Amino acid sequence: MDVGERLPRRRREPNICPRCGTKVDKPYKTWQLVAPMPDAYGRITITIMGMYECPNCGHKWRAVVSKIKTGGGEVEVETSKGKRKLGATQQPVKREGPIIEIDIDEEEEEE
Ligand SMILES: [Zn+2]
Repeated sequence: MDVGERLPRRRREPNICPRCGTKVDKPYKTWQLVAPMPDAYGRITITIMGMYECPNCGHKWRAVVSKIKTGGGEVEVETSKGKRKLGATQQPVKREGPIIEIDIDEEEEEE
């Protein structure tokens, strides 16, 4: 395994520019990735992805904004601030057939 390909993911804020460290307010675009398969606990993971653009150096990158796990009567939201469980206050996502929304925008600059 090439360790160089693995980003150090030490609870890094998704909105910090990986190039210059500037904090970006919010992504200019977000979308959801819904896992096609439930996890071992029967929960569906919804990943909220965001595209960020650094106002300082113009770097664009894609990052996970948050993750939502739903199913089994509870909803768990995972963000850079940690995990949060939302018991019955939120309705579980209805699954009406396979709703797989994948919209990966390849506009980002890669170097
Ligand atoms: Zn930057």
